[in-house]
Amino acid sequence: MLGLMQDWPLLCHKILDYAAAQHGKREVVSRSVEGPIVRTNYAEIHLRAKKIAQALERDGFKLGDRIATLGWNTARHMEVWYGAMGIGAVYHTLNPRLFPEQIAWIMNHAEDQAIFVDLTFMPIVEAVADKVTSLKKIVVMTDAAHMPKDSRLNLVCYEDWVASVDGDFKWKEFDENTAAGMCYTSGTTGDPKGVVYSHRSNVLHAMIASLPDALDISCNESIMPVVPMFHANAWGIAMAAPLTGAKVVNPGGMMDGASIYELLDTEKVSFTAAVPTVWLMLLSYLEETGKMLPHLKRVVIGGSACPRAMTQKFQDVYGVEVVHAWGMTEMSPLGSLGSLKPEYASLEGDDRLDIQEKQGYAPFGVEMKVTGDENEDRPWDGETFGRLKVRGPAVAKAYYGGAGAENFDEENWFDTGDVAHIDENGYMQITDRAKDVIKSGGEWISTIDLENLAVGHPDVQEAAVIGIVHPKWDERPLLIVVRKEGKDPKASDILEFMQGKIAKWWMPDDVAFVDEIPHTATGKIQKMELRQQFSDYVLPTA
Ligand code: AMP
Repeated sequence: MLGLMQDWPLLCHKILDYAAAQHGKREVVSRSVEGPIVRTNYAEIHLRAKKIAQALERDGFKLGDRIATLGWNTARHMEVWYGAMGIGAVYHTLNPRLFPEQIAWIMNHAEDQAIFVDLTFMPIVEAVADKVTSLKKIVVMTDAAHMPKDSRLNLVCYEDWVASVDGDFKWKEFDENTAAGMCYTSGTTGDPKGVVYSHRSNVLHAMIASLPDALDISCNESIMPVVPMFHANAWGIAMAAPLTGAKVVNPGGMMDGASIYELLDTEKVSFTAAVPTVWLMLLSYLEETGKMLPHLKRVVIGGSACPRAMTQKFQDVYGVEVVHAWGMTEMSPLGSLGSLKPEYASLEGDDRLDIQEKQGYAPFGVEMKVTGDENEDRPWDGETFGRLKVRGPAVAKAYYGGAGAENFDEENWFDTGDVAHIDENGYMQITDRAKDVIKSGGEWISTIDLENLAVGHPDVQEAAVIGIVHPKWDERPLLIVVRKEGKDPKASDILEFMQGKIAKWWMPDDVAFVDEIPHTATGKIQKMELRQQFSDYVLPTA
């Protein structure tokens, strides 16, 4: 027997229909690429997205075509996503922090047919356009006055192109499992892999993301996604915000402390999300200027581990609640969030920080487990770590073109490549990337735990730990440190600081000082490169 409820496919453009109907006047504020702050609202974005859909269709684009974007978080970028999805085309966010050769490779792999680009990224398009055989149209997201003058490429001016149609357009209807968006993961090994979101997965993810114990989004919030749309869908905010009618404040390309602070203040932002690096910049700006954050209630921090000291500062000095989150491009991206269950809500001080240091628990729609070397389930005891595996309606079941099939098993469990433990209340803590974990005498050492501890030393700016080959133990940890400017800690100072805070056999065998630690295009420490850099390193204990 089937239910007798209506068939109402979960299509992303319905999110924008809803926002326009119920929250049409709610503002979307963007720091534009041209400079000024630009204000629009959901009703206008809805109309312009329809114009984009109409113009795309007029120009011959259709269901399934890949439409690349190379842009900051702005209202224009949002319009393009919804416009493309509205004809069943697939938005494909490109990460401008990758090398042009990688971008060209990705565009060819995805067979992008058009690209919408911000002025900032014109040099990238100039470098790759000839190499992408499928590319038919390049639209520069600006007005006629700001169009590049001396390009050899055939460029279309976005504002003129949008103005060339009237917006009298009916969204296309299709199956909810149709592809809606694409994003390639910045894998540190092998070629990048394409994740393909569906309309259904995006809508479900936006609903899950909005839940009170997830991002807790409502139409009474003013939210600033600093996390870019080109990296893991701005953590779902570009869809969760219109789905709930929240005001959006887009930072554009300016992520320095002063620029972020200005928008937090003038737009009375109540909730924001970004990687730790962005918050380091904001916190040092606040320290220098003595400014406070009177409007901000909550900040979600993820993408890499949120240092304990950062959580403490936001909460104790600025009265802003920190929610630590973990996720992946393959998960749309939210996987877990650290809001406090009743079991932990009354904790204070260090006990509270101990829980907040974990990456949190899975919301509805994410199943999670940790497994050992024989794929056996490991207990949820907050100690025993293993490979972290997930599944759910907004988790990838394959990569585009079939690469990386070994990451998915026959029961749909996706091996995240992270190593973690889960406690009895479901709170997961990442202890490593599977390929970074150090195996010493058959036991695992968490490099993230060591790094977190080392950056707690007042003279340490950044720390990374890698395994170095050891004749007796297979591998032993080497701590690599960037000193804070003007400080000169000795190796022994840092090791002494770590003593007693971790198991004895976890203590790094040596400390190396460097001027800089290499990062990937998405801000993660590039351990492969560090391992190469230190490939001839001999530990004093070897
Ligand atoms: P990406 O798909 O580029 O967002 O990268 C996902 C990876 O980032 C995860 O598999 C983790 O290794 C890492 N990651 C994301 N959030 C966190 C977090 N809160 N703590 C530690 N690692 C994280």
